[in-house]
Amino acid sequence: MQVRGLAAQKSGDNLSPFEFQRRELGNHDVALDISFAGICHSDIHQVREEWGPAIFSMVPGHEIAGIVTAVGASVTKFSVGQKIGVGVFIDSCRTCSSCLAGLQQYCEEGMTGTYNTFERDGKTVAYGGYSNGFVINEDYAVHIPENLSMAGVAPLLCAGITLYSPLRTWNAGPGSKVAVVGLGGLGHMGVKFAVALGAEVTVLSHSPAKRDDALAMGATHFVDTSVEGSLKAYEKHFDLVLNTVSAPLNINDYLNLLKLDATLVVIGLPGKAYEVNAGTLLNGRRRLAGSMIGGIPQMQEMLDFCGVHNITSDVEIISADYANEAYERTIASDVKYRFVIDASTF
Ligand code: NAP
Ligand code: ZN
Ligand code: ZN
Repeated sequence: MQVRGLAAQKSGDNLSPFEFQRRELGNHDVALDISFAGICHSDIHQVREEWGPAIFSMVPGHEIAGIVTAVGASVTKFSVGQKIGVGVFIDSCRTCSSCLAGLQQYCEEGMTGTYNTFERDGKTVAYGGYSNGFVINEDYAVHIPENLSMAGVAPLLCAGITLYSPLRTWNAGPGSKVAVVGLGGLGHMGVKFAVALGAEVTVLSHSPAKRDDALAMGATHFVDTSVEGSLKAYEKHFDLVLNTVSAPLNINDYLNLLKLDATLVVIGLPGKAYEVNAGTLLNGRRRLAGSMIGGIPQMQEMLDFCGVHNITSDVEIISADYANEAYERTIASDVKYRFVIDASTF
């Protein structure tokens, strides 16, 4: 299948137009026309090799919303014309205990990422979602509720599930106080989900201009972390702190905000180690945890939840030729709140 997209040809390169082949439709495959592809900060980290050596040519993109155009002979889950979503992985071993539990993201052999990796044959480069067409095994795709806009849905496939999952793992709901650190693509989805689940939500942001948006999304408090000492009033305050920040920060300042037995979940992945102060962690029996995206069953649960509660991402729709500028603006925390590329412009 011949497709058009955007690729970086080597580390740190700008994205430029790229034509390439995807595999022909197998028996269990679904082909889709991509409608929108979200720009996740993970795309930027990988194009710039901030997580270590990467595979080039790289077609980034793991927030993919499209329409099914063809199905393989054995496909039962999808039919032509349906809305379909693809996220951060396209395959896994299918037999380990994580895969059998529907936690494919924690596959013991390692999930097969949507890009910057090889497919399970060990030699075919996986090309991501910044393109106009995709082929996916039906078991690794999800249904998109009919009532949701495709542009606003694309970011749910990574940013959405990545915040929905820890909110469910740590039982955010009525009576719990949740803090979201960083109001970016991930963070703003965390605010929307935590509010919909009934939690009291506080946004901790270094961008004071985002205050009104945070409150409009349902947060009840906004703390401008660029003001020295602003976190002081929130020490021992939260049941759950979700750190979505893409840059290194002093994690101890945020551990201090946890109540007895409460949890700080690391979600942002700046590619640099945090220095944890043992005294801060053990005082209050605090927990420091991590969470990575979500498995296929939970992705579907999240999308169904969005359909019922009418939740989508706030997006800025761009054409393919704006992607490099969108990267710079994302790094500058200057996006409301996710760029999505209109795939008809590739
Ligand atoms: P994003 O849209 O760029 O948002 C990151 C936010 O972090 C910014 O909006 C900003 O929020 C804050 N921030 C950025 N630089 C900062 C700095 N120097 N100091 C303090 N705060 C800063 O990024 P994203 O797409 O949401 O991704 C966030 C991180 O999560 C990335 O590292 C990404 O790789 C990672 N990620 C992890 C998973 C997972 O499974 N765990 C999945 C996807 C992405 P304010 O302006 O409000 O301060
Ligand atoms: Zn992502
Ligand atoms: Zn597995």
